[in-house]
Amino acid sequence: MSAPSNVVGQEALDAKGWLGAHRWLLLRRVSQLSILALFLVGPLFGVWLVKGNLNYSLTLNTVPLTDPLVLLQSLVTGHTPERNALIGVVIVLLFYGLVGGRAYCAWVCPVNIVTDAASALRRKLDIRGGGDLPRETRYWLLALILVLAATTGGIVWELVNPVSMLHRGLIFGMGAGWLLIGAIFLFELFVMKRGWCGHICPVGAFYSVIGRFSVLRVSASKREACNNCLDCFVVCPEQQVIRLPLKGAAKGCSPVILSPNCTNCGRCIDVCSKDVFTIVTRFSSSPPNPVGTDKPAL
Ligand code: SF4
Ligand code: SF4
Repeated sequence: MSAPSNVVGQEALDAKGWLGAHRWLLLRRVSQLSILALFLVGPLFGVWLVKGNLNYSLTLNTVPLTDPLVLLQSLVTGHTPERNALIGVVIVLLFYGLVGGRAYCAWVCPVNIVTDAASALRRKLDIRGGGDLPRETRYWLLALILVLAATTGGIVWELVNPVSMLHRGLIFGMGAGWLLIGAIFLFELFVMKRGWCGHICPVGAFYSVIGRFSVLRVSASKREACNNCLDCFVVCPEQQVIRLPLKGAAKGCSPVILSPNCTNCGRCIDVCSKDVFTIVTRFSSSPPNPVGTDKPAL
């Protein structure tokens, strides 16, 4: 699917200016880099605001945060988690239950910076086609890593998990981990569009499960204003989630994007020159009125 304009988001650039058309992207990069910086200032400068890594951390020596997927793998190996690990997982589940499970992908995961870069370069070089896999593949892999943990008695996935590997590597040194991250970049660039994050990564799959009923959602609230430029489809890492909320008014579909695979990244908000997309709660029953009418959107 390609947009009529040569430059994706050109209409948004013209309408809103560069900052207005990159606001959510910039906020996400600030979030991702700030989280990395919080982990880095300890080892680099001895300022231990946060100790640990994305699997388990302790903020200000007080607040534990536990990756629920690591805890789940640990549980299926038969390990009994410590109290702090359980408190940490409750905090994380509550947080992503509010902001969307896959907000982890868009706002926290360092691999997302790599895959976004590959995707942007792929668009710039106009690389098309390539391999395909069902998007459900990631859920099968998620099941596989749990089975592996149960049968081996160890958290085998963590030996090769690129998310943990990149995060730990940026803090303590990457070593051969760069090979894996480089392979993911090249895979997304040449082999499969959004191949890793959109089809394979079991971490993203897991976070989509825990955010299934999350509160904050993106909505095509002003979908009547859509001019079919298709820029939102082009930049969306999970473009299948947009179609019905944006185009399903005649079928009575809600404009709220309820798919758990929407990452709440906000890129659709950035690149839309008509400001079709907004952040709402999943309970929004009366989205803002359509542009130019007094009638409710649904
Ligand atoms: S899908 Fe996986 S690698 Fe991609 S952003 Fe999400 S957790 Fe990170
Ligand atoms: S629908 Fe919008 S917020 Fe959701 S993943 Fe796609 S671009 Fe990001």
